[in-house]
Amino acid sequence: MYLNPCGAGIVGKDSPCGQDALQECFYSLLACIYSIINDPMDTKQLIKEKTVEKQVTEMADAHCHLDLLEDIAQIAESIRYGVRTIVTNGVNTKSNMRAMELADNKNIFAMLGIDPEHAGVGDDELEFTIKTIRQNATRISGIGEIGLDYGRVKEKVGVERQKEVFGAFLELAKELRLPVSVHSRDAIVDVIHTLEEKGMEMVHIHFFEGSVQQAKEIEKRGWLISVPPINSSKRGKIIKEIAIDNIMAESDAPVVGVTPRDVEKSIEIVAEAKRIEFKRAADLLTQNTKKFFRLHTKGMFMRY
Ligand SMILES: [Zn+2]
Repeated sequence: MYLNPCGAGIVGKDSPCGQDALQECFYSLLACIYSIINDPMDTKQLIKEKTVEKQVTEMADAHCHLDLLEDIAQIAESIRYGVRTIVTNGVNTKSNMRAMELADNKNIFAMLGIDPEHAGVGDDELEFTIKTIRQNATRISGIGEIGLDYGRVKEKVGVERQKEVFGAFLELAKELRLPVSVHSRDAIVDVIHTLEEKGMEMVHIHFFEGSVQQAKEIEKRGWLISVPPINSSKRGKIIKEIAIDNIMAESDAPVVGVTPRDVEKSIEIVAEAKRIEFKRAADLLTQNTKKFFRLHTKGMFMRY
């Protein structure tokens, strides 16, 4: 879609074909037309090669749940495909442990937390999670998934308990100076209010579903949103309205995407809304993810 399958370079305003190379581009194009007319099999091969080229574009998945994947082989497949940075989120004790087991601080980075759905755990389990985060503060990439959910989850775990658990993790994140990945389904107003009240700085609102106005409030505070692999005209408008510096891409696999590979679709959504090449979007969003989670600092704490 973004690469000229005939080898004449990237098509569009980011084309590397400068004036000096224009002639070369022209001849490549002629060769391409010639090959389509005369040798369709060769052209197919070229398309395949270029597809492979696109596949190795480096991508970053800012939010997923590797412990829930159907097949563990999907992790290696995703990394090979180009998703070289994967941030996996724990949602309860079991998935936090699994996230730490999987993290290599090279391609896979762990976030630990208790999400709204599991916020009904006892105080002893909450304390255990807080202790685990403290003990591993230099090794993990942040606290998540945490947040509020006023959808169906509200019937399972009351709003007050959700707020208690969310608040405890925000205090911890501030104390340890760790970024947070926040869930906000049907609760974005309270989430923004709570984050502001606590004076949070390093905030990632995952699967942002709010309005343009709320996205701008988030941007103004220096927080980031991430885009899932589901497009809508509303999402496109939000992406257009805020700076790409405040955006990351996520697969939310296997809840939304099937595997982290599906972050490719999220990046395509951003590229389309921002009217930039796929590769440029992938590069910028990868940079944002590495910078936000300070992944470059994690290598020195590796214990593997
Ligand atoms: Zn999630």
